[in-house]
Amino acid sequence: MNRSEDLFHRAQRVIPGGVNSPVRAFQAVGGKPLFIQRGNGSRIWDVDGKEYIDYVGSWGPLIFGHRSPEVIEALNQVLAIGTSFGAPTEREVELAELITQLLPSVEKVRLVSSGTEATMSAIRLARGFTGRERIIKFDGCYHGHGDSLLVRAGSGVATLGLPDSPGVPSSLAELTSVLPFNDSNALKSEFDRRGSQIACVIIEPVAGNMGCVEPRPGYLELLRNLTKRSGSILIFDEVMTGFRVALGGAQQRYGVQPDLTTMGKVIGGGLPVGAYGGRAEIMDRIAPAGPIYQAGTLSGNPLAVSAGLATLKRLQKDSPYDRLEALGARLERGVIEAAGKAGIQVRVNRVGSMLTFFFTDREVTDFQSARTSDTKRFSRFFHAMIDQGIYLPSSQFEAVFISAAHTESDIDQTVSAATRALEI
Ligand SMILES: *Cc1c(COP(=O)(O)O)cnc(C)c1O
Repeated sequence: MNRSEDLFHRAQRVIPGGVNSPVRAFQAVGGKPLFIQRGNGSRIWDVDGKEYIDYVGSWGPLIFGHRSPEVIEALNQVLAIGTSFGAPTEREVELAELITQLLPSVEKVRLVSSGTEATMSAIRLARGFTGRERIIKFDGCYHGHGDSLLVRAGSGVATLGLPDSPGVPSSLAELTSVLPFNDSNALKSEFDRRGSQIACVIIEPVAGNMGCVEPRPGYLELLRNLTKRSGSILIFDEVMTGFRVALGGAQQRYGVQPDLTTMGKVIGGGLPVGAYGGRAEIMDRIAPAGPIYQAGTLSGNPLAVSAGLATLKRLQKDSPYDRLEALGARLERGVIEAAGKAGIQVRVNRVGSMLTFFFTDREVTDFQSARTSDTKRFSRFFHAMIDQGIYLPSSQFEAVFISAAHTESDIDQTVSAATRALEI
């Protein structure tokens, strides 16, 4: 037994499923998870000493790779003065100012500790602000594990939500309408039917949690128009896309301004930070400015905030987006070429440094088409890549993340590995 297996064995005795978040368990691809010992730049090493090029990046946060120097320096500065006070500190104000500067739709922002907390709080705020209870989400979009959001569609166009998990009250899930992503007609008919009951629409403006799926041209604009007309709040869940697909997130990339934005991942630079923000008129309804309650003992934690602040400042200074685009395009091209040579159907969906290889001949525009992917082939591909020292997300329905620490030679090495992996 190697050390990873040994640790997993121990972990399973004291942690449900041996992991603290389900996707880490490799269940979708089979096999046992690797325990990671350390990381540096684009690389990670497992506890058995094997090196990998990392395309998970902690599931999105590490846009400058592991142990990026500005984050380490910022953390060291905070360690010298104390880790938590439960009282306001200067860096929180600085981070909030920087967020409002980078995202013009965000006039005021509240910091929390995870993406889940951000989306749960934004939904409560939208309901409290509008006095309405119904929300709309999209099939295959993930917004954390809050009760109202842990719901997906069955078949059919607009289905009333059924909970995805035992423990989610059906009375709550019923208030969530689930629509197919990218389907304008489904959206229009739901708004025709009960627009006046809809508190908010929450969407990943580029979906990342059914694999990477870009919005069709005009789709986000339609969403903006329908929500405006019916007095519903439009929430862009930019936990994954924020500061990644552009400095100003998907809202900058596609030129559509939501009422509220949820953030996480990159905003914490590898530490636990989430945030939600938007129009001041709405945000001022949150306690203590207003009556809608939301709080957190470690919200705005100095260590977490300093890592996020250092990351956002470096993004602003270095603007790595052209480079991320070029690296993404290089990986996309390489894998398409390799698949062509091996005679395997692959669709690569990519937005900048987020991408997914789908093993299907169909265009992937929503969760239904994503599910046409040959997940058995994906599993073989995943394990063949791991064997060759390439660490990909352990599910077909996740996005590969490239960081600014990746090099062209990392990408070329990955493409060579993919060429072999596709022959298996
Ligand atoms: C990761 C993610 C979340 C949840 O964030 P956590 O920090 O894991 O709670 C919410 N929304 C989107 C779009 C995400 O990608």
